[in-house]
Amino acid sequence: MKIHEYQAKELLKKYRIPIQDGVVCESENQIESAINSVSTQFNAKQFVIKAQIHAGGRGKGGGVKFCPTKDKAIEAAKAILGMQLITHQTSEEGQKVQKIMVAEALDIAKEYYLAITLDRAKGQDVIMASTEGGVEIEEVAEKTPEKIIKVWVDPTIGLQAYQARQLAFGLGLDKDIIKQAIPLFINLYKCYTETDASIAEINPLIVTEQNQLIALDAKFNFDSNALYRQKDVVDMRDLAEEDPTEVEAGKYHLNYIKLDGNVGCMVNGAGLAMATMDIIKLQGGDPANFLDVGGGANVETVKNGFKIILSDSNVKAVLINIFGGIVRCDRVANGIIEAVKDLDLNVPVVVRLEGTNAEIAKDLLGNADLDIIPATSLADAAEKVVIAATGGN
Ligand code: GDP
Ligand code: MN
Repeated sequence: MKIHEYQAKELLKKYRIPIQDGVVCESENQIESAINSVSTQFNAKQFVIKAQIHAGGRGKGGGVKFCPTKDKAIEAAKAILGMQLITHQTSEEGQKVQKIMVAEALDIAKEYYLAITLDRAKGQDVIMASTEGGVEIEEVAEKTPEKIIKVWVDPTIGLQAYQARQLAFGLGLDKDIIKQAIPLFINLYKCYTETDASIAEINPLIVTEQNQLIALDAKFNFDSNALYRQKDVVDMRDLAEEDPTEVEAGKYHLNYIKLDGNVGCMVNGAGLAMATMDIIKLQGGDPANFLDVGGGANVETVKNGFKIILSDSNVKAVLINIFGGIVRCDRVANGIIEAVKDLDLNVPVVVRLEGTNAEIAKDLLGNADLDIIPATSLADAAEKVVIAATGGN
């Protein structure tokens, strides 16, 4: 789960990390008072208008504007609020800006990069820092990875003070900045672990002309499996920023991720879902989604799964690939039959059921007088669905 920059900054504030502050507004008639309140609260003469969307690269896309005067700030705020912002992290259509942050402008002397995430290969959190902060960090990671300093945290003892010093010295910070940096690193790690974050990123972390270390931008992702114990995090969720079909799928407890292809997939178990996507690719096709209907594939889940898959107009054929282990194939087959009858499908459906009572399931589907294409093996199913998606050629 992601949050906005302004929410990430509120979180940092709670952990005593200094931030570039501001006021959020959601409608044009709030703009002027937001700017006035930023100038009185933070004694700001200059402003930065920042689009609040769940994607990075806003600066390059025109969603972050430095404004030397109030009038310019009003003008920029009006232009950015409501715009369709396209960045390298949004879809091609971009994301509609529904909130902006009017921030105090700071005098930047130097931009650094700081982030914490899980290094899955090591099984440890890694803290990354670089002197090359700002809007080009992806390029730094790709072309000059040696410019990113890394420190790994042993989960049994947590981040150690000497490691925080290692990062600070590695960045070549001045003495009085080091004093600010060490508690900042420690507090960010504390915030990251206590909120069950999967990413905590400050880019840029700046040193101002006045020698203050400040988070100018902040980004968090949270582990969705931990949300049950993170009420404050859940409260920050902004559904308007999320894919509506994924939100809908969540209501039915389906694990659905939308992709760009045209073969809809309904599968039980995440591993089988991944394998199914791979084999569709191998056959020259492209999956339209990842959908794991979970262990109990009954009539309701199959129906809901169909609804979700078919709400994507790119879908030209559907592959149902269910392994009947605990759930019996004949039950799934009945679910499919009912769902197909009820939903009036207009795309071909390929079904492969394997496991307990697979033979009975095959008979049920064969006798149901429905437009279902039966398949035997995984390869056979993938081949058939890819052909079906391209109109049978
Ligand atoms: P992002 O593009 O989505 O990562 O948005 P950021 O909040 O990181 O802003 C992008 C860039 O805008 C920063 O790297 C800064 O160079 C610039 N910027 C943002 N706020 C200020 C500010 O207060 N003063 C100055 N001089 N530049 C700023
Ligand atoms: Mn940034």
